[in-house]
Amino acid sequence: ETSKSLNFIEQIVEEDLLNGYTKDELRFRFPPEPNGYLHIGHASSICLNFGLGLRYNAPVNLRFDDTNPAKEEQEFVDAIKKDVEWLGFKWDTERYASDYFQQLYDWAVELVKQGKAYVDNQSSEDMAIQKGTPTEPGTDSPNRNRSIEENLELFEKMKNGDFKEGTHVLRAKIDMSSSNMLMRDPIMYRILHKAHHRTNTDWCIYPMYDWTHGESDYIEQVSHSFCTLEFAMHRELYNWFLDQVYDETKVRPKQREFARRNLSHTVVSKRKLAQLVEKGVVTGWDDPRMPTISGLRRRGYTPDSIRNFVDTIGIAKRDNLIDVSLLEFTIREDLNKTTHRVMGVLNPLKLVITNYPEGETEWLEAENSPEDDTAGTREVPFSRELYIEQEDFKEEANKKFFRLKLGGEVRLKNGYIIKAESCTKDTEGNITEVQCTYDAKSKSGSGTEESLRKVKGTLHWVSIAHAVKTEVRLYDRLFTDESPDTHKDKDFMDFINPDSLTVITGYVEPALKDAKPGDRFQFQRIGYFCVDSDTTADNLVFNRTVGLRDSWAK
Ligand code: ATP
Ligand code: MG
Ligand code: MG
Repeated sequence: ETSKSLNFIEQIVEEDLLNGYTKDELRFRFPPEPNGYLHIGHASSICLNFGLGLRYNAPVNLRFDDTNPAKEEQEFVDAIKKDVEWLGFKWDTERYASDYFQQLYDWAVELVKQGKAYVDNQSSEDMAIQKGTPTEPGTDSPNRNRSIEENLELFEKMKNGDFKEGTHVLRAKIDMSSSNMLMRDPIMYRILHKAHHRTNTDWCIYPMYDWTHGESDYIEQVSHSFCTLEFAMHRELYNWFLDQVYDETKVRPKQREFARRNLSHTVVSKRKLAQLVEKGVVTGWDDPRMPTISGLRRRGYTPDSIRNFVDTIGIAKRDNLIDVSLLEFTIREDLNKTTHRVMGVLNPLKLVITNYPEGETEWLEAENSPEDDTAGTREVPFSRELYIEQEDFKEEANKKFFRLKLGGEVRLKNGYIIKAESCTKDTEGNITEVQCTYDAKSKSGSGTEESLRKVKGTLHWVSIAHAVKTEVRLYDRLFTDESPDTHKDKDFMDFINPDSLTVITGYVEPALKDAKPGDRFQFQRIGYFCVDSDTTADNLVFNRTVGLRDSWAK
């Protein structure tokens, strides 16, 4: 492999291997905060970090960045583990930032003792004013020069629960005139009188992201800590905090940044996705309209398709918007190869073959997949009364209509050539039934002269007496706008597509009667569908994963 095919993150690792890191020292991590379910953006980070692990045969930790008890829950931890596994990756060890609370506290006490951290008990407003602006230096807190003894005492009281939330913080004493605002005495600890999902009420002070992340990387001896671009400015602080604890004999973690991935017509932020769940816009984190890994799984996406998508969009240095049609393309490509073709009718119109014997059932052989020689065949029942799609019949139509019209012929997939003779309408003029005749010698695959006769259209169909009635959920984009969360004057919730879900009743061939949640199929001429987890013994539910073609492309 040449360095050309390496992305810039892989190049960084390659260079580090030349400049001192040994292969054994490589270690990566994926560090989700358990405050929601993983989304398609996280898939990029997962594939990047675990991909590096595979490439260099290096361990990858799954580290929960659980420093905010107000938003984090065990449910999210469990969902994240399930999703990472489902994507096909194995972590070396499961870690929690909360495992390091004692170590972090001990190091913080050391910093206080060295005069590098102090307790501030001003209001957050006052501290914000003193921070200054990027072009003007800040001003020192009146508490910046408290004695070490007093700081130690106050910090201990913070830890012991002697103070109310919001009254005291521990700040690193760095540089109030740094051009990097994050270096202007950043907060290391705040008070939160909240139970934590793992440490319960052991702690009422919680470390901030910057103080936690690099030190956790260091504790775990992670060699490369890859994060998204919004942390670029944090790198200086990451390094400052590391400098305070770094021991030369150990691996020094290195933070590098890559671009956040955004998908069109949706939002990829756990906080915003949580709002959709809380406000009932969707049925849950795994609603098939959600861009979450669990939503995509329920929608019928495969782990392969998501990994291929991530691979296709690659790793970038600049943020950009990926069109959701690319994601849809990837799943179509996958399902085309892997699913069986079956017949299902979504908008049924009754068709009667008047010259076919009443009460007779004939089992026709149907090929499961033209893409897979090993997929075999199955039997499909044929009888006098069938359903076809409403849109496949017109009384009259021009030559470009390759479906059924009065006096015209089509082939019924896997079956016979039929000719439409007449139709019946209700009082409002809607067509309720089509009467046809069939050519008994034209059966597909029978080898007769009639069977080889070419007719323009082929229709899918189901036998009414044998069909299984199913609930079919058709999904559309959740938002009407390409980037709903980038408008200055509007909230992303203003762009919710009111028609993102349509539920209809469809009819499928009986081979699908025992299909299980997660099973995927191509409904011929319509699209890809998978069995939903809401399916019960007497209600088979299908989700439309994606149509056969991009219905938005014009
Ligand atoms: P969110 O706003 O959705 O909560 P986050 O970055 O706060 O995103 P984390 O749980 O902290 O979520 O993310 C875990 C890892 O995944 C981090 O390294 C983060 O940078 C990365 N990540 C999150 N969102 C994206 C995205 N859209 N594209 C690429 N990487 C992402
Ligand atoms: Mg985060
Ligand atoms: Mg977040």
